[in-house]
Amino acid sequence: TPLLAERMSRVKESPSSRVADRVRAFQAAGRPVIPLTIGEPDFDTPEHVKDAAIQAIHAGETKYTSADGTPALREAIKARLLRKTGQSYGAGEICVGGGAKQLIFLAFLATLDEGDEVIIPAPYWVSYPDMVTVHGGRPVVVATTASTGYKLTPSLLRESITDRTKWVVLNSPNNPTGAVYSEAELRGLADVLRANPRVSVLCDEIYDAINFRAQPVPSTVTAAPDLRERIFLVNGVSKTYAMTGWRIGYGAGSAALCTAITTLQSQSSSCPSSVSQAAAVAALDGDQEFVERAVRIYAERRDLLVSGLDAIEGLRPVIPQGGFYVWTDCSALAGTATPSGARIESDADLAEHILETSGVVVITGDSYGCPGHFRASFALSADTIREAVAGLAHSISLLR
Ligand code: PLP
Repeated sequence: TPLLAERMSRVKESPSSRVADRVRAFQAAGRPVIPLTIGEPDFDTPEHVKDAAIQAIHAGETKYTSADGTPALREAIKARLLRKTGQSYGAGEICVGGGAKQLIFLAFLATLDEGDEVIIPAPYWVSYPDMVTVHGGRPVVVATTASTGYKLTPSLLRESITDRTKWVVLNSPNNPTGAVYSEAELRGLADVLRANPRVSVLCDEIYDAINFRAQPVPSTVTAAPDLRERIFLVNGVSKTYAMTGWRIGYGAGSAALCTAITTLQSQSSSCPSSVSQAAAVAALDGDQEFVERAVRIYAERRDLLVSGLDAIEGLRPVIPQGGFYVWTDCSALAGTATPSGARIESDADLAEHILETSGVVVITGDSYGCPGHFRASFALSADTIREAVAGLAHSISLLR
């Protein structure tokens, strides 16, 4: 009998790791690349956060913690949730894990039986469908379009719900589109959920602090506090505080779900890293000046990249309201041909042409369940963004 379980046939390597391999191969061949694929802040973790971790090490905070995190971290998370949502989450309604990613994985593990459905609006973060299928669930991908800002609408949600629907995933600000759901839009979706009491909503709010709008990013639980028991909020310190390597994320929701996740945590990793938890407390409770500065810098880079892409014929960038990616419609380039006469028939053809002719790397829309687009990151220096735009302009000018 084969070693690997059947479920392994239902999960594939993340497209981002595949692209990273391609980039490394290119670099190994001595060819320069401009990776617009970056999915993490290029800033360093703030000093006061690093200091807190060093202090924790010296103070001997180097042992197992409780599976749902240290009391200090749980308090810091509760305080942040209260500031953001106005909701006070109690003991047992919070779980802590090795990144938001692990919490989403555990939430599906804890709740999906064979054949249960999860509604995933496309474009989606690449990991959601695989995290559903590996646990025997069925991703129900719902296409959205530019006309609704690539957002799920109440009627699309209503049409997609079946007897088997367990979750709908909402990601705001969205990766890859940068779309933010307004409070009114969330209220519209909440109306549909009220009529469907068995459906829960997983709100991935990991980019909520990287926000370019005048108002804070609304949370689903603020728009529909009466649905709080069915809303699972997921967040973390990775993107907000440039802490992707520290691996701390958290979730808030019903005690039943959070307890289940904590049980799974206790039987898999025991607990998140104690040192990283101390760092996360400093990040959440400490001076937020770092975040404000980072957002100002991201906003400048966003404008640079959006205006650069917009000036290239055949590209239609969407102005992101949050996060650090520009989602770009490149469907107008389909059917063109490269100087050697090769036809651009797919996103992959276009990405390959761009890489070959200018070394710029983007992640194509098919990875996000929405072909005819690509995602370009601006978690890069302004100079690199300028170089990337010049490279893209050159590559695309070669197409006929
Ligand atoms: N959710 C979204 C939408 C993301 O883009 C990412 C990271 O790329 C994550 C979750 C994972 O974040 P974490 O580092 O907390 O696991």
